[in-house]
Amino acid sequence: SVLQLMTESVAEMVGFEVAALSVVLDDQLVTMAYRGPEELRDYLSQPDPVSVLEPIRREAQVWGRFRFLAEEDQRDELLGHWAVTSERQDLGPDAWRPRDVLMAFLTDDAGALVAMLSVDKPSSGLRPDPVVRDLLERYAAQTERAVLTAFERESLVAQVAHAETARRLIRSAAMPTHVSLEAVLRQTHRPLVEGFDASGSWIQVLDPRSGGCGYARSRDGEAVPLPEQLVHLARRLAPQLWDQQRVLEVDMRTGAPTATDPIMAEARLAMADLRLATALAVPLGAGTECVGFLVLTRRHEDPAWSSVEVESALQIGHDLGAALLTARALERERTLVLELQQLDDHRSGLVATLSHELRTPLAVISGNLEMMDDLDLDPAAAPYLQAMGRGTRRMHRVVDDLLLLTRVSDPRHPLERRPVDLRSVILDVVTLVESQATVKDVVLRSETWPGPMIVAGDAEELDRLVANLVSNAVKYTPPGGAVSVGLRRRGDEVVLEVADTGLGISEDDQVGLFRPFFRTSNPVALREQGTGLGLAIVATITERHRGSVDVRSELHRGTTFTVALPA
Ligand code: ADP
Repeated sequence: SVLQLMTESVAEMVGFEVAALSVVLDDQLVTMAYRGPEELRDYLSQPDPVSVLEPIRREAQVWGRFRFLAEEDQRDELLGHWAVTSERQDLGPDAWRPRDVLMAFLTDDAGALVAMLSVDKPSSGLRPDPVVRDLLERYAAQTERAVLTAFERESLVAQVAHAETARRLIRSAAMPTHVSLEAVLRQTHRPLVEGFDASGSWIQVLDPRSGGCGYARSRDGEAVPLPEQLVHLARRLAPQLWDQQRVLEVDMRTGAPTATDPIMAEARLAMADLRLATALAVPLGAGTECVGFLVLTRRHEDPAWSSVEVESALQIGHDLGAALLTARALERERTLVLELQQLDDHRSGLVATLSHELRTPLAVISGNLEMMDDLDLDPAAAPYLQAMGRGTRRMHRVVDDLLLLTRVSDPRHPLERRPVDLRSVILDVVTLVESQATVKDVVLRSETWPGPMIVAGDAEELDRLVANLVSNAVKYTPPGGAVSVGLRRRGDEVVLEVADTGLGISEDDQVGLFRPFFRTSNPVALREQGTGLGLAIVATITERHRGSVDVRSELHRGTTFTVALPA
């Protein structure tokens, strides 16, 4: 509407029946504003290639911004391009001729053509005299400014929209917590080059530990090799720029290498090597930490970076910086988990081998001890033999428990699920432990629901789970106490409960209860023989069966272990 107003003003104020303004878009002249008879409007609505202006450039008289091509100077090639607006009449030398052409070339600061303003049919009927030409020139200058402002506004709007899109995409690419560093780099390349209309992008991740990595791609996604010296430069430059919260623009087309700024000089050298016209170097970071460096490039035919682009590049430096930091932290965590897993594998391997190795000599020792029982030895030797027997049995228990714990903890030894009736498991265990309880004067009761209670799992492992809990309960309950084993349904779970009226476990001790080799600090409990592996085995087996284990206990009152397994 601004351009329409300008065009109308030229027509009215200077005195032309026809005025038209065409702008250059993709090498085409597209009419944007028109004032004149309706029948000519249609004619003008067809875009013309800019090349139609060539004869005018070549042959017309130059009147400031305007070119005037008199009818009598025209060659035939012009006919057909320009509208003939009036009938030929016999006229004086100053009279405006039907095929006279008068148009202004409106250009930008660099001299590139941006629009044409043409006028026709002066109301005076005369070709413009110097006074009219002067007036025309002034209107042309104003129109030129209006056109340039309109263009700038349009491209500004487009740039803002582009940069905003890039920012949004980068945010979404970077935020999910599961993405890897590689994925962040891969996913942000496209929005970056498209949003900034760049010929390529390069992200250098700076990592003091691993040394970082670089990801440089051309607009079409092809990998760009990075000279080592450029990476060095990025390492030095990025933290400085981040400190100053500044984006560095290097344009080879303007300015000269400044000797006073060695970094700038170095950057220009590197760019000359890569035949780049202009680059935008953006530090990436979060808080006080600079985590990387982003470079966007453009080629010689591309425009310089606008202030909107520079501003949003710095914003992106923050978004991308935060994303890289998250990705880097996740990567480190992943590496750490992997290392821990390897360490754990190594540990279980060691424990398993050791236990196996101990088994054979242990068997030899116990076998020989048994045989010595049958010998006619000095009675004084008996207590020694008994002590050796007790020690050997204890070692057997430790080795067996260790082997079991390693086996159920081994991810390469998956659980083989079969239907197991927990009722019969409990019945077997109770039968086995009953004699110990009776000897200790502890009442052992079991309350199970009638009918089977089936879980999917390994019968032998479940047997060990129940056995460990029940024997612990008997072991840590003084004479006169009671142990009860209950089994019930709770929703889609089967719940096993082993409750005793024994020593109880202090709150502090409850924290480490399920760790291997943990034994409570209670001296009364420590009098009992144990390996500290029983509850670790219970927890591991429960976990393998996708269940949960829970303990409720009060010192001197008793303890209840609850294991819930999917029915
Ligand atoms: P241990 O072989 O020592 O019994 P566990 O892993 O089975 O190893 O148990 C770890 C520790 O937890 C035991 O040393 C004991 O102090 C405590 N504990 C386990 N069960 C009970 C219980 N029912 N009552 C009191 N303390 C218990």
